Amino acid sequence: MWLAGLFGLCIGSFLNVLIDRLPKGQSVVYGRSHCDHCKKTLRWYELIPIVSFVIQLARCRRCHKKLSLQYPAIELLTGVGFALLFFYFADSITKLSAYVLIFCSLIVIFFADLKYQIIPDSMVVVGIIGVGLLGSVFDVRHAQVFWISAFGASVFFLLLWLLTGGRGMGLGDVKLVFLLGLLLGYPGIVVALYAAFLTGAGVGVILMKARHKTWKSRVAFGPFLILGTVITILWKTQILAWWGNIL
Ligand SMILES: [Zn+2]
Repeated sequence: MWLAGLFGLCIGSFLNVLIDRLPKGQSVVYGRSHCDHCKKTLRWYELIPIVSFVIQLARCRRCHKKLSLQYPAIELLTGVGFALLFFYFADSITKLSAYVLIFCSLIVIFFADLKYQIIPDSMVVVGIIGVGLLGSVFDVRHAQVFWISAFGASVFFLLLWLLTGGRGMGLGDVKLVFLLGLLLGYPGIVVALYAAFLTGAGVGVILMKARHKTWKSRVAFGPFLILGTVITILWKTQILAWWGNIL
């Protein structure tokens, strides 16, 4: 489990690269990492997850400007995520790989959308491969539910996209909910969308009050969809029971 966590820290470091390069269409293999401020190419000892950040006191070695907290935060998040996934799914290598792929794709989509308002197609594909490994979408007895959830959610978001003229939702959201519908099925996807709209509206109101933003200024919706998905995975049973009580 500790090894899985350490491995996760290194993968987290790579996810940081994906988050910053995929939305800009840059190569994720070529090109060295550099300081956001002075563009200095980082040496290998400046790229050790967490350790480099702490030793350098969160500052660049050359320009001494503050390094973004994004880097160690995502490394830690991925490390903890890998440790937990290993803890729960160590008995099945297929399940473990599936959830690792889904987890990584959702982390990159969450932060790429938050930072650049772009959901990288390649990460949606990685997530769908992960869900495919789980096998539930190919199991003839239950598969229908997952595919209908995926297509239903996509069509719903495509309509929203058409109705708002692309100002509210992006086409990226249409692809993302396809992945989420395939992952959650029904009624999971409904719970996730409900939670996403609720948290999205809540944060939207707070942002409007705080920064005097108008509804027109685009706030990425992908992070809320992923937040809704996490809420659904953790508390689906409780939420459905609660709905059953009030309906
Ligand atoms: Zn610098």
